[in-house]
Amino acid sequence: MGVRFLFATLQSFFAIILLQMRTTLKAFHYGHLSFQLRQGHRYPLPRYAWLRQIVLDSGLFFPQYVIAGQPVTDDVLLWGHSAEYIAKTQACNFTPAEIRFLNLPNHPSVFHRARAIVGSTLAAGHTALSDGISFVLGGGTHHAHRTYGSGFCVFNDVACAARQLLVDGKIQRVAVFDCDVHQGDGTATILAAEKAAFTCSIHAAANFPFVKAASDLDIALPTGTLDAHYLTAVQTAFEQTMATHPELLFYVAGADPFVGDRLGKLAVSAAALAQRDRYVLEACRRNELPVVVLLGGGYAQPLRTVVDLNMQTIQIGCALHTSTQLQRTI
Ligand SMILES: [Zn+2]
Repeated sequence: MGVRFLFATLQSFFAIILLQMRTTLKAFHYGHLSFQLRQGHRYPLPRYAWLRQIVLDSGLFFPQYVIAGQPVTDDVLLWGHSAEYIAKTQACNFTPAEIRFLNLPNHPSVFHRARAIVGSTLAAGHTALSDGISFVLGGGTHHAHRTYGSGFCVFNDVACAARQLLVDGKIQRVAVFDCDVHQGDGTATILAAEKAAFTCSIHAAANFPFVKAASDLDIALPTGTLDAHYLTAVQTAFEQTMATHPELLFYVAGADPFVGDRLGKLAVSAAALAQRDRYVLEACRRNELPVVVLLGGGYAQPLRTVVDLNMQTIQIGCALHTSTQLQRTI
């Protein structure tokens, strides 16, 4: 009887801890927003709704904390984009050449959704500052420049959110650690003049964008880079990023360095991507550095592979957060 009572008490004790831990975790999504794409288009649109559902089913988050990002108004977009460009998206007033460069349809639903991506990342920034970690179930639209969109990216979510948080005085220094396999060219150019921001991009040298911008730190990897080389590059770059003493980190945990990615050109295993995420997120926890985890690109087939890689990142982030909470509770 005594043992059974003790067991039941312990069980409810851990259930309460688990409940408390889950309440602190928030993920922002825009999976409910969609648009029409022609057959065979490379943009993996179904990924976002699917990931949201798998995240909900995982039980890692309370359903009410898987939050729909709200579209931002022009005042937030102006931190990263010109008024002319914002007006052009509002009017769907793009030339065919501009639309080819963006590689998304010239439709209001595309631009409305792009505002919600920025809203998700900005809300995740606020949340990370209070919770230590937050997630965007997508985000990292890093090819969007001040005056034009590019490579599936309409607005630059991280640049707009980072500058908004700086202007609001929420943080004095910010860093972007971009591990998407494509260079974060838009983020680099928009934040180039922002002295309080440090931008780092680790990417495949021979990949899109073919004309690279200058981040504060660029690591251009050769085609076919394997795990050990990749992880060393991540570690070296991350140490340099941390040396700038950011008060908030935007971590773009791209799934596209994966060996099976159709647009990647690197040969990094799923296990090494897990090591990358664990290394970065553990260091954030150790240094009490708030981190927004964004998922960037992923173009492997079947799409489930990308969703699984994204879930791997989210689970690692949640597990680290959970163990921190446990240490504090006990
Ligand atoms: Zn990418």
